[in-house]
Amino acid sequence: MATKRDYYEVLGVDKNATEADIKSAFRKKAKEFHPDLNKDDPNAAEKFKEAQEAYSVLSDESKRKMYDQYGHAGVDSSAGGAGFNGFGGGFTSDFDFGDIFDTIFGSGGGFSGFSGFGGGSQQSRASRGSDVLMRMDLDFEEAIYGTEKKFSIDVVEECDECHGRGGFDKEECRTCHGKGTITTEQHTILGSFMSQTTCSDCHGQGYTYKRKCSECNGKGRVKRKKNLTINIPAGIKTGDRQRVSGKGNPGSNGGSNGDLYIEFVVDEHDYFVRDNDDIYLEVPLTLTEAILGCKKAIPTLYGNLKINIAAGTNSGDKQRIKGKGVDNKFAHHKGDMYVVFKVYTPNKLSREQKSLIEKLADTNLETDEIKEFNRFVKKND
Ligand SMILES: [Zn+2]
Ligand SMILES: [Zn+2]
Repeated sequence: MATKRDYYEVLGVDKNATEADIKSAFRKKAKEFHPDLNKDDPNAAEKFKEAQEAYSVLSDESKRKMYDQYGHAGVDSSAGGAGFNGFGGGFTSDFDFGDIFDTIFGSGGGFSGFSGFGGGSQQSRASRGSDVLMRMDLDFEEAIYGTEKKFSIDVVEECDECHGRGGFDKEECRTCHGKGTITTEQHTILGSFMSQTTCSDCHGQGYTYKRKCSECNGKGRVKRKKNLTINIPAGIKTGDRQRVSGKGNPGSNGGSNGDLYIEFVVDEHDYFVRDNDDIYLEVPLTLTEAILGCKKAIPTLYGNLKINIAAGTNSGDKQRIKGKGVDNKFAHHKGDMYVVFKVYTPNKLSREQKSLIEKLADTNLETDEIKEFNRFVKKND
């Protein structure tokens, strides 16, 4: 494959473009290069796909971040694990682009997915089924370590009994004599003219069936509960999507199924706070631990770890622990852990503790910062 162009360059926007800039830039490119609209440029379809791919990444906040950070490698589906296509370069789903194409073609227009460019949508044309999006909740741990999830969804499938036809014993439609349309002559004060309407008996097919299929009640499709199992790679964040190929809605007239997209919502943890692949942990310290320094066991995603805390630690001081963040199997990136200290001043003291602290107060505990501040207070007087 040829090297890919920069996505910002493809859409003609700069790196700081807003969401609205990106959307309007894509709309322009889509109008310019959509193969149905541009018959002059032989590369129109290719350019349209390129713009579509760029838009799918730049319009999604998390994908755009990945792209900004890692370039094409960060968002290419080929870099992902088995079946995982959440950030995919080959991401061609209907629902993400729906509102854009409504604007170009008018809603309900003849545009049905990205698989069939060109031509009108005839009934007999094979068309790909639409994609389905579902949300899935994950525990914090499930998202961090990866997991296998079993779930069930309602899927609409082609009826086995009639193979999606809806009936048996095909015969020519008697109403339209196989044409699929009915032509009527209308007489008005402006003269008479012919009008053509879709045949309502065969819905434009030109044929009907002698016997209706009882399994699907003539619809050709049946709804079923389907149990699925997916492997979720370690490192999933809220908003990431995983594609389950071919588990969307069924196509018609032999067209392939759409895909199922699972969008994850990850629970928060009581102690660990996640920022992309970095993990933040607040570690409480007693006054003396902070003053004298200490060795202390802290929890990490990978078990407890003893760390050295320096003497004179303040609330808000941070310590980085390299490589103890999220081991993101999709992005091939390991985050770090940041320990943030917080000193808790006791508000209940024993008589003995109080007298010890009072002795301490008689000594001078002022740091340089405090001395400087006090000088400022004096000057300000
Ligand atoms: Zn008919
Ligand atoms: Zn059937």
